[in-house]
Amino acid sequence: MTSTPEPVPVIAGWFSTGDEPTLTGSQCRECRSYFFPKQLFFCKNPRCTSRELDEVALSRRGRIWSYTDNRFAPPPPYVAGDPFEPYAVAAVELELEQMVVMGQLTRGVDTDALHVGMEVELVVEVLDVSDGVEHLVWKWRPVASTHASGAIAPGGNPS
Ligand SMILES: [Zn+2]
Repeated sequence: MTSTPEPVPVIAGWFSTGDEPTLTGSQCRECRSYFFPKQLFFCKNPRCTSRELDEVALSRRGRIWSYTDNRFAPPPPYVAGDPFEPYAVAAVELELEQMVVMGQLTRGVDTDALHVGMEVELVVEVLDVSDGVEHLVWKWRPVASTHASGAIAPGGNPS
């Protein structure tokens, strides 16, 4: 048997992995603003001079604020699979944090299946594999409604 190397996040420190992954952000102790990617050295709120921020796990669920089809590879530090495949991307509003976080939709989710206000949750999926190492990235997956018509199947498995 060959041993499989541990999967690694495409960007270290931006999210946790596991059954209930979360994005890692930060919150200002003074004005309570949230940031993602995390800010740890100063608060970006122009009306706040605090330098005290705590690392926090952001909400796992949010609602689609806007979405589109991404047909071009994004610039660094954002990452896309290699070779690049077009994917649906959504800006998701987190209610508690009052912020919008961009992310790809899980594989197999088409923009036709999306609408503004749709609830999605954070998952971690394999983006690509190089040298036998799986690279992980966070994605948004539509929350399957138990009794809605036209329910969406959960994101496809990485092939
Ligand atoms: Zn602040």
